[in-house]
Amino acid sequence: MKPAMKIEQEILIDVDKCTGCRACEMACSAFHSLPKFSSINPAKARIRVVSDEIRDEYVPVFAGNHTKSGCDGRHVYTLDGKTYSECSFCRASCPTRDFFIEPDSGLPLKCDMCESTPALEKPWCVQVCGEEALTYKRTEVPREQATQEVSGEIEASLQALMKQHGMEAVIHHLKEMANKDR
Ligand code: SF4
Ligand code: SF4
Repeated sequence: MKPAMKIEQEILIDVDKCTGCRACEMACSAFHSLPKFSSINPAKARIRVVSDEIRDEYVPVFAGNHTKSGCDGRHVYTLDGKTYSECSFCRASCPTRDFFIEPDSGLPLKCDMCESTPALEKPWCVQVCGEEALTYKRTEVPREQATQEVSGEIEASLQALMKQHGMEAVIHHLKEMANKDR
């Protein structure tokens, strides 16, 4: 029997085309502001562009999963003669640095592919990238694999909320939400 399928979304990055204009950061923060497009603050974006303007090198990095603690082994990357720390291209929101952490609430930021209803044809960062450094791809994957990924995301979000507000407050709020939905 054919397994149930689900759509998986990806954004492909071509670093050779990126000019470091940071339009993607601005569009992302505007889309996620409340109400939508009411403000622009790249510190709240779920994508950041690692830039070396002297060498004309730019690498867009998307916010990935939250991690509770920093890595205990650090390495460096040497690309084209320039040295980058391991953290430069890391996608995690991590307690050892400020990237991908919402500056007002301290909550982790993660790319949500601009999830909205109705769904967008393409995420905003892809739409505004005039250089086509970012391209959007949709693929069908077995539903079981997709479900495991969602479980991991929910667990990471709950852990971050418990760290900030405490387990009791989170459980209390979840119970209140469940009661409202009845
Ligand atoms: S919008 Fe495109 S070209 Fe500009 S910084 Fe972002 S990825 Fe690079
Ligand atoms: S897909 Fe949407 S949420 Fe993710 S980085 Fe791009 S604009 Fe931000």
